[in-house]
Amino acid sequence: MSGLPAATRLEDLEWVPRQRLSALRRLGLQTLGDLLRHFPRRYEDRVKFDRFPDEASETPVCLFGIVRKTAYRRFGPRRIFEARIEDESAGVLGSPLICRWFNMSWVQKMITGDQQIVVFGKPRVRGKQVVMEHPEFEVIEEDAERSIHFDRITPVHPAGDGVNPRVLRVLIHRALEETDLSTIPLLWPGNAVSERVWREVHFPETFEEQENARTQLVREEFFGIQLVVCARYAAMRGQGGTPKPADGTWWKLVEASLPFELTASQRKVIAEISADLASPHRMNRLLQGDVGSGKTLVALHAMLQAAESGWQAALMAPTQILAEQHYLNFRRILDPLGIPVVLRTAARKESSGGPPDATPGIFDDFRGAHAARVSDPAARRIPPLVIGTHALLFENTGLERPGLVVIDEQHKFGVLQRSRLIARGDAPDVLVMTATPIPRTITQTLYGDLDVSIIREKPTGRGKVITAVREPSKLPDIIAFLRDKIAEGRQAYIVYPLVEESEKLDVKSARAEFEKWTGLLAPARVGLVHGRLDSNEKELVMREFREGKIAALVATTVIEVGVDVPNACIMLVEEAGRFGLSQLHQLRGRIGRGAEKSYCILLQESPDGTAKEKLNALEATSDGFVIAEADLRLRGPGDILGTAQAGLPPLRLGDLLRDGELMTEVRRVARTLLESDPNLSLPGHEHFREFVENTSARTGIAEG
Ligand code: ADP
Ligand code: MG
Repeated sequence: MSGLPAATRLEDLEWVPRQRLSALRRLGLQTLGDLLRHFPRRYEDRVKFDRFPDEASETPVCLFGIVRKTAYRRFGPRRIFEARIEDESAGVLGSPLICRWFNMSWVQKMITGDQQIVVFGKPRVRGKQVVMEHPEFEVIEEDAERSIHFDRITPVHPAGDGVNPRVLRVLIHRALEETDLSTIPLLWPGNAVSERVWREVHFPETFEEQENARTQLVREEFFGIQLVVCARYAAMRGQGGTPKPADGTWWKLVEASLPFELTASQRKVIAEISADLASPHRMNRLLQGDVGSGKTLVALHAMLQAAESGWQAALMAPTQILAEQHYLNFRRILDPLGIPVVLRTAARKESSGGPPDATPGIFDDFRGAHAARVSDPAARRIPPLVIGTHALLFENTGLERPGLVVIDEQHKFGVLQRSRLIARGDAPDVLVMTATPIPRTITQTLYGDLDVSIIREKPTGRGKVITAVREPSKLPDIIAFLRDKIAEGRQAYIVYPLVEESEKLDVKSARAEFEKWTGLLAPARVGLVHGRLDSNEKELVMREFREGKIAALVATTVIEVGVDVPNACIMLVEEAGRFGLSQLHQLRGRIGRGAEKSYCILLQESPDGTAKEKLNALEATSDGFVIAEADLRLRGPGDILGTAQAGLPPLRLGDLLRDGELMTEVRRVARTLLESDPNLSLPGHEHFREFVENTSARTGIAEG
């Protein structure tokens, strides 16, 4: 088929209205190819419409009718435009639908009596009327283009200011006619995408046809993503690393001192990481494990292996509180063995545990191995184990010569930061730990440039966690329950939905809550911790809580990640509906760490809609993977992940939850391709390399 190349610019086409060009550009549409890759966000069956409803429904319906009456009213500051729509097929007998728009004066200019109109929205019942508020709508016009819009499966494309779906539909329809479809660049090397799919995805004859076309195009889109992440992985591996083949002497001492056995899962991931560290490749690994699965010891094992091989190992936590907690934990384990560890945070430049010079033996091994490698005598005195906050990574004073960097709680640590870390000249091995279980498809995408280790089981012997959603009216019972538990010697968290770096107002209300709870729980001591406290104050409160001197801790989400106080077995979350699902799961992970039975009480005034589903999901399961999937489903595809932040091409069509198998399939192909040609430099691979380079340039993420 002849036609224009896909790269033809829209401004060079006389049939693209001049006044639309800037609006199209705002949608990222500059060429014919861009238009054809602007996929519908949904379709309307405008052959067979839904019936006019006579009851409310959560599923939106698509109706076709005649505008019989319009009205415009004011209610104080509110302006309401109403259109009464009647079912044409049923004549005057069909129950009419009232469509309402508030404060949207442009709607009024578009809808007048006797028009044919398509509306899409959720019907509600108000009094005796069936009503739709702010439905999507499209007026059907008797013009030459009617057949593009009507009597077919009609695409609804993502619109923007100055271009509505109707305009886009006409442009895309035309683009399909004018473009030489064989000139649209494609990547997928398998059975080629047929040119038909472009028409079928925009203007399908049947939904089956649309589904097939979609699958082919999703595969194509996913393959682009996998090319980028697998190329990134290959580049990193290609850089080479340093083998750290310690024989595990230090770890054996640690393991012998633990009051419990490692789980089989912990042993498995320790072996994976250990082999990776010992290999000459650079390690870039993601360690996934639900809250409480025991990731810290796995990190410690890796750090000891690096240190024993003469390398400095660093553990980076997202917050000061966590850095301090890790530090105390490590010291408890390492002090008796004479292995020094230092804490470095912005607040406290350095504090050392276990005097390095006074402890002969074990530490000399490190220095011996280290000195053999470095000639600068000053550099020989670096501490083997350093704990700090993420910020430290990017300061010059941060680390002397890290051979391994462990990043705790990845979800606060973006891909960009990771790539900066990886780009460091000294190229350490990297272990990223995340406490949020991530569905496999997402791991393969956002963390597709990492190897993955997963801790599947949790240590046994933990108390059960009971989760209950309650209305605030139940508060008196809850307070009595709290007082009882505290009297038995237990501790509690009381969590408020305040943002970490929040405004003064939030701090004020946290203080007010703190005073309220101090009164309610007296004589038990109540503590307060939030993001605005300075680190010494924070540390003091956390220490007193850890030591049991404080019975209840009023807290913001600063306690969300990692805080580990086994005796705390009650958590009360206020306005729980305002938190995200995964966030609530993280919060809940703070309890159930000891042998005691634990209780998580989620307070919410009459939860409805998403809030209700969210809270119910928490009541129903404590499996982090199930919760992570539910979270994604509830948040919907658009909001999921920001592929751009991860330096990836945008997802226009694919849905990471729905299309998981396709992602796995194309990942295999991309990996094989990059294993055989890590730089994509073989003949016939130029277009792959070009795509990867363009994507990296666009997203500002440089390769390794
Ligand atoms: P997370 O994976 O959430 O970071 P932690 O590493 O903080 O979990 O471990 C949670 C608690 O479980 C800690 O108190 C730790 O000492 C304990 N723990 C770790 N491994 C085991 C195990 N194999 N058996 C029993 N308790 C363990
Ligand atoms: Mg942890």
